[in-house]
Amino acid sequence: METSKPPVRHPAEGRGTLDGVGSSEEDSFNSSLKNDGLRGDVDGNVELNGNVDVTLVLRSTRVITPEGTRPASVAVAGGRIAAVLPHDAEVPAGARLEDVGDHVVLPGLVDTHVHVNDPGRTEWEGFWTATRAAAAGGITTLIDMPLNSLPPTTTVGNLRTKQDVARAKAHIDVGFWGGALPDNVKDLRPLHDAGVFGFKCFLSPSGVDEFPELDQEQLTASLAEIAGFGGLMIVHAEDPHHLAAAPQKSSPKYADFLASRPRDAENTAIENLIAQAKRLDARVHVLHLSSSDALPLIAAARRDGVQITVESCPHFLTLTAEEVPDGATEFKCCPPIREAANQDALWEGLADGTIDAIVSDHSPSTADLKTPDFSTAWGGISSLQLGLPAIWTEARRRGHTLEDVVRWMSTAPARLAGLDRKGAIEPGRDADFAVLAPDETFTVDPAALHHRNQVTAYAGKTLHGVVRSTWLRGVRIADNGTLAEPTGRLLERNT
Ligand SMILES: [Zn+2]
Repeated sequence: METSKPPVRHPAEGRGTLDGVGSSEEDSFNSSLKNDGLRGDVDGNVELNGNVDVTLVLRSTRVITPEGTRPASVAVAGGRIAAVLPHDAEVPAGARLEDVGDHVVLPGLVDTHVHVNDPGRTEWEGFWTATRAAAAGGITTLIDMPLNSLPPTTTVGNLRTKQDVARAKAHIDVGFWGGALPDNVKDLRPLHDAGVFGFKCFLSPSGVDEFPELDQEQLTASLAEIAGFGGLMIVHAEDPHHLAAAPQKSSPKYADFLASRPRDAENTAIENLIAQAKRLDARVHVLHLSSSDALPLIAAARRDGVQITVESCPHFLTLTAEEVPDGATEFKCCPPIREAANQDALWEGLADGTIDAIVSDHSPSTADLKTPDFSTAWGGISSLQLGLPAIWTEARRRGHTLEDVVRWMSTAPARLAGLDRKGAIEPGRDADFAVLAPDETFTVDPAALHHRNQVTAYAGKTLHGVVRSTWLRGVRIADNGTLAEPTGRLLERNT
């Protein structure tokens, strides 16, 4: 597109240039972004001088940027954010204006913990259904977990098999975690080189035979290997000895299940993981933290220089053990949903930064595996499409802002995975957005979910925050729950 219009300029902001030419000595923009010559200043403000093909301007009175929420017009060129302009900026000739009024524009969410199960257990979920549900829920990037699919993502060949399956089905961008097993240390470096974002391991049985856990010696071996090439280990941290010592009984009562997965199992596993990470100078990430008792351990480890990050999940932060009815195994996951007081402490951990990120751990199964006996039912909670409204509903009740939610559900997970182009609305990043009506409410109707199986612990709940539309690289991929054809890409580490 060419335009003869003068540059769009804002007296207080238009300091940088955006001229489509390569590098410049003046380029003070975050150099970690691969911005292909699109340049702005450190505040993300630019002027357009007419040489950039802006195809879309997304306008709202409330755009959430790293500097805060403000009225703005986000200019998109080549699928990336070209500029964050004043709300009343002139729309370049040839560009389409999409004015969403007072709806909030946030960066597309990044969900780094999703079990897609494809290929192999596609009756549980699949790339088609999972990415449609994600898009409907405001998520524009997901990283798939290495287990529950057949094959698991534990060799380069298996990764290629999964990529081949995902390619044509991806409605959003999709990346892959690798898996660390007792016998695949030799595969870790090749997987890293092939683009996985890091490696998942279990310290207790995973629930599927093809993905065995690591004992302490095996953890040491894998962690040393991964630290050697600067990789990341993400860990399901429950200690098998504490689990074995806990009372295990066949029961429809949630209290019996909760007693079988005690906090000490998590606390001890995290303590051991911290010790190993410290000794090996390895980078580790605690998956799905449930036990708030571990927060002081983690905070102390950080102060001690240990490279450790932590995520929690919507179900730990919005559901409580006290409310789970007998036999309601749609609430079963491991580690488990704990008491209300534990949840309060997890929110404190979010508020003080000990917990970095909130991701779904969407782990569905068919309804028949959710038997009423908590000891035998499949463990996993489906929430891919509901994470944003579930968290926003609880966050606002507790006095947190949408900026906080964006930090926990987009910026931090993007940083965890090293996704420099995701996680914020600023020039150079991908034009991935969720448009949210934060004050509107809806009641969760399982039949309206795009998940393959409409089993969810959130059924019947009234939640705040309706996702009006979702945009991937400047293309609207979801519009009030109606999905477009798939345009997602497969992501590899550092791409
Ligand atoms: Zn998981």
